[in-house]
Amino acid sequence: MAHNNIDPRTRAVHCGQDRDPYTGASSVPIYQGSTFAQPDPDHPGAYDYGRSGNPTREALESAIAELEGGVHGFAFASGMAAITSALLLFKPGDHVIAAEDIYGGTYRILTTLFRQWGLDATFVDMTRPGLVEAAVRPETRGIFVETPSNPLLKITDLDAIAAIARKHSLLTIIDNTFATPWLQRPIERGFDIVLHSATKFLGGHSDCVAGLAVVRTDDLAHRVKSIQNITGSVLGPQDSWLILRGIRTLAVRMDAQQRSAQIVAEEMARWPEINKVFYPGLAAHPGRAINERQSSGAGAVLSFELKDGAVAHQVLRRVKLCLPAVSLGGVESILSYPAKMSHASMPREERSLRGITDGLLRLSVGLEDPLDILNDLKQAILVEKV
Ligand SMILES: *Cc1c(COP(=O)(O)O)cnc(C)c1O
Repeated sequence: MAHNNIDPRTRAVHCGQDRDPYTGASSVPIYQGSTFAQPDPDHPGAYDYGRSGNPTREALESAIAELEGGVHGFAFASGMAAITSALLLFKPGDHVIAAEDIYGGTYRILTTLFRQWGLDATFVDMTRPGLVEAAVRPETRGIFVETPSNPLLKITDLDAIAAIARKHSLLTIIDNTFATPWLQRPIERGFDIVLHSATKFLGGHSDCVAGLAVVRTDDLAHRVKSIQNITGSVLGPQDSWLILRGIRTLAVRMDAQQRSAQIVAEEMARWPEINKVFYPGLAAHPGRAINERQSSGAGAVLSFELKDGAVAHQVLRRVKLCLPAVSLGGVESILSYPAKMSHASMPREERSLRGITDGLLRLSVGLEDPLDILNDLKQAILVEKV
């Protein structure tokens, strides 16, 4: 079904397969099979082996491709598996430029496994395109962007990065986990590969770990398909079905969570215990105008820095409604401590350089009433230090 001329809200409900082609069932079946009959090996059917292709996984893959406006989607066992597969497009001796406040796991794989393998990475402040261009070397082959970034919600100008990439013939990769295609579609702005931790907003219910990739060209589709099949980090049919189900409600969840995030951010910015709130929807956010140009919203994740960093542990212990945990994008609000959780693999000096202080907490705003979320945080922050 082609959905080129319909609203993205409608697309989220119908993308991929919106019914079973054999029975008309309203949901794509979970094809729980590892192998497919091939009575005539000279004329194989559409499927032969579950690593190479599975109809449930393909329904999800075509759904995300449609939402992002790419030619092909790929589903992986996790966000990190999708990121790894994209980085395998490079070869030893190549160099990539990555955002300095990139997801902790991406930083870790670039500075450990890929560095050993021979892929070199330079980390720069992507909010300054001049620094990105200055980091280009003869062996540079790609730029890896994340906007809004994690955990400081910095905004990268996608048009400026795409222009630098075109000038130097670089592959552009973006981790679009925080914005989702509901708010931001980087392929429309010239990006080559969009990656997701579908564990977060796309799945949306904190019940499944998954990753997705979408590519802009048939050539990239061919190469990523080959990497996916060779390395085998595919998403299983049950989890593919769960992510597809999550996607059906993406628009309403994001809209509601984003509305609440704006209320929570504005209110917390007034609390005397808070040094600063980082949220692209706030008037004082330096990337607000760029974000408004390239995406249709500020998203549902914010960070705040406590004046007294020693209170952070207390807040995690005292929250009753917010889940003190890693991850984000679920129906429940999730409060995480980047210094000790998502960015624990980053050395302390690196963390401080990037503004990830010991008093910084990240909040993924869920579907609860925003006043309940604020009350929960207030009682957790105000309680006497123990
Ligand atoms: C969680 C996350 C990842 C990693 O995804 P997994 O599904 O945990 O492997 C990558 N990028 C961002 C921005 C994330 O939040």
